[in-house]
Amino acid sequence: MKDNFNRKIKHIRFSITSKCQYSCLYCDSEGYSKTNELSVEEITKLCKILAEILDVTKIKFTGGEPLCREEIVEIIKNVSELNLYKDISLTTNGLLLSEKAEELYKAGLNRINVSLGSLKPKVYRKIYGVDTLDQVLEGLEKAKTVGLDPIKLNYVLMKGLNDTEFEDILNFCAKNGFILQLIELHEVSDVLGGNGDFYAKHHLDLSPIIKDLESRATKTIIRGSMQNRKVFILPNSAVVETITPSHEFCMGCTKLRVGCDGNLFGCLYRSDLGKNIKEALRNHQSLSKYEQIVKQVVDSREPFY
Ligand code: SAM
Repeated sequence: MKDNFNRKIKHIRFSITSKCQYSCLYCDSEGYSKTNELSVEEITKLCKILAEILDVTKIKFTGGEPLCREEIVEIIKNVSELNLYKDISLTTNGLLLSEKAEELYKAGLNRINVSLGSLKPKVYRKIYGVDTLDQVLEGLEKAKTVGLDPIKLNYVLMKGLNDTEFEDILNFCAKNGFILQLIELHEVSDVLGGNGDFYAKHHLDLSPIIKDLESRATKTIIRGSMQNRKVFILPNSAVVETITPSHEFCMGCTKLRVGCDGNLFGCLYRSDLGKNIKEALRNHQSLSKYEQIVKQVVDSREPFY
């Protein structure tokens, strides 16, 4: 299914809980803050419906913190057993990874993104509000050992907080075979109260760093099916993917988002344009009814920038 800007939906980003152990300074709550969660059965059913209607084969689970959802292994197993998704991933703060990575992998999880804004315990604590860097590093080791691949580190760069750590984190990634996702801080949607002051104080335009990466890279790839993200391969084999909000970025967006309460929406900044599918799921509607809801959401998608 394509939207009015000729963008086909290729990925689902599914928040399964709004619960989280962290209080990240920058958190966008994935565009949504409601806590009324879909049940495991509803999540599985919705994943099946979306794969059938949209012909998507990629899904990423998020939150809140997805590993805070007690039934996370069951959810991954159920979705894997649908045999409809070729790529099942999740994004996590990593705190519970050492405990859960093996079970998750066995249940059918292919790969993960882990938020890692600093390798310095004090800075880590400042950004995330918790003193858990060591557990996260252990979790990364475990994830590697059990075979989750690739492992990507989400590094949101913030002026005055962690902007001096880029090269250290890059070397850490190269040494461990992790892919670095260098993310420009974005504003939090007004629907969620915004993050105006924080953004103004800590936002850093990534263009100069990207220019530098361009000059150092042995190869540059544009991920046309993923928001036109640029990926740089550096001489030491480090791989850096850059995520910077822009019109080009929005025009390459092929994601449909699902909030943990069943709200379907097409843009992180416009969860207010969403349509909730929970009632339809509970009333066991026909595929055409679900299709009608999904089509309304897809039609509401427009580039934010
Ligand atoms: N708790 C999980 C985690 O820490 O990855 C999943 C949810 S978190 C909202 C998912 C990702 O959103 C984080 O890794 C971070 O990169 C990104 N994110 C959240 N707020 C952001 C912001 N204001 N600017 C840029 N990226 C943001």
